[in-house]
Amino acid sequence: MLLHLNSKMMFRTHITIGFLAGLLMLPMLTPLNPVLFIFLALVGSAMPDIDHPESEIGRKVKIVAFLFEHRGFFHSLFATLLFYLLFIYYLGSLRYGVYVFAFVIGYFSHILSDSLTREGIMPFHPLSKFRVHGFIRTGKGFEYVLLIVVFMLSMWRLFTLN
Ligand SMILES: [Zn+2]
Repeated sequence: MLLHLNSKMMFRTHITIGFLAGLLMLPMLTPLNPVLFIFLALVGSAMPDIDHPESEIGRKVKIVAFLFEHRGFFHSLFATLLFYLLFIYYLGSLRYGVYVFAFVIGYFSHILSDSLTREGIMPFHPLSKFRVHGFIRTGKGFEYVLLIVVFMLSMWRLFTLN
């Protein structure tokens, strides 16, 4: 099968992309605490790989990787929506919605970047096995190019924020 244990993008690629996504959304959402906002975007961008036993997060809660297929439900749009609703419900109001949104932006950026890889993702899992994929091989040359480009864009964005 296409899926194997190495079918994950690097942790640092995901958090760098999450960082850029958070930075791009900052001027639009203007949170009171921009540092918390960015931090939550980073957490969100690492979260979907909770379904991978060797990932930074999955290592700590192996039960999730045991129960769920890697790049299955946790890499779907349903999981993104579920996290959003759970956090809003847990917080009991939309007052901190902007921070929940930061997490969701990070989460979505992870799924979007995984969809550019050869293994791809199933956005509507478990309802549909429809798979979206690109040409990037995880952990190989082009992922490093992507990482460097995204990192440079983040630095540019960071230093041009007013
Ligand atoms: Zn992933």
